Amino acid sequence: MITINGSYGEGGGQILRSALALSLVTGKPFRIEKIRAGRKKPGLMRQHLTAVNAAAEVGAARVSGNAIGSQAFAFAPQTIRCGRFHWSIGTAGSCTLVLQTILPALIIAGGPSQIVLEGGTHNPFAPPFDFLARVFLPLLARMGPRIVAELERPGFFPAGGGRMRITIDPAASLNRLELKNRGPVRRQSARAIIANLNPGIARRELKVVAKALGLASADLQTICIDNAPGPGNVLFIDIESETLTEVFTGFGQRGVSAETVAARAAGQARDYLAAAVPVGRYLADQLLVPMAIAGGGAFVTLPPSRHTLTNIDIIRHFMALSCEPRETGDGAWEIDLCTEGVNR
Ligand code: ATP
Repeated sequence: MITINGSYGEGGGQILRSALALSLVTGKPFRIEKIRAGRKKPGLMRQHLTAVNAAAEVGAARVSGNAIGSQAFAFAPQTIRCGRFHWSIGTAGSCTLVLQTILPALIIAGGPSQIVLEGGTHNPFAPPFDFLARVFLPLLARMGPRIVAELERPGFFPAGGGRMRITIDPAASLNRLELKNRGPVRRQSARAIIANLNPGIARRELKVVAKALGLASADLQTICIDNAPGPGNVLFIDIESETLTEVFTGFGQRGVSAETVAARAAGQARDYLAAAVPVGRYLADQLLVPMAIAGGGAFVTLPPSRHTLTNIDIIRHFMALSCEPRETGDGAWEIDLCTEGVNR
């Protein structure tokens, strides 16, 4: 039985989501202990528990220990089911993180699926819906499956109440993906989203981004949303290059000025542009599991985060993996993965 120390490396929820995803696709059971042991509130929070239960439903799995606050659980999948699924987190916990858990299995399942997820759609420290739709899913699509994501209602932290629908047309196996060059930047743009707050916040954010990145007014957009259950403000900076689009996000926060939110997001975009790499820091850790399923892949990115290094290690628990991130100069790192892959 594969045993995983949940407090290892980055020590957060990603360890259990990646383990669940890999267990589903390989059919290998595992046990995880010390879940989020170093966090303020250790164990499974609602978002993590929803991910475990969603994976159990997709995998018709035997599970024990799946309860709020639990610091250990065991998971033994039997199959990969497809079809219609509906999961509601019940808090503002991130829908995209729950999706991260079951998407790798559903893109290689025996038939199409339609998923409805309810909870947070734009959460700090998680991929916002827009990152999913404009960055991650288009890259997954290049690996074979067809995936459509619709935001039916945004849910901002802390109110939640968002809803997204994901339609998946799977592929029998995944193609290898290589993202080594960014190519020329085709367009940079920014959009500030406001729900139940003063639109002046968005205008202030866009002014800062325009100045920091030299954007013209045609590349700036304010979007006022009227169907969100609570207040919210998110700023997106899109960098569209020849080979991919990257999205950098600033989350409006009580007590943090609009100018600071915008300056931080612009700083991320500038670091990315200066390093001349195609793959940003967050995308890097999220590409690893799909690439491992595909039998490998390669990309050039910024210095690997703890999430990336920890994810590489979790993959090693489930399949033979050769992957040694190496610095290639000027702040760029190359990550080359080679596995036996998963064919269903
Ligand atoms: P914990 O509460 O235990 O710290 P968690 O379950 O909330 O963990 P993490 O384990 O920290 O989540 O994983 C966060 C995931 O969200 C990572 O895959 C990371 O790449 C992604 N992520 C975080 N911020 C962004 C962002 N701004 N854009 C895109 N992806 C993001």
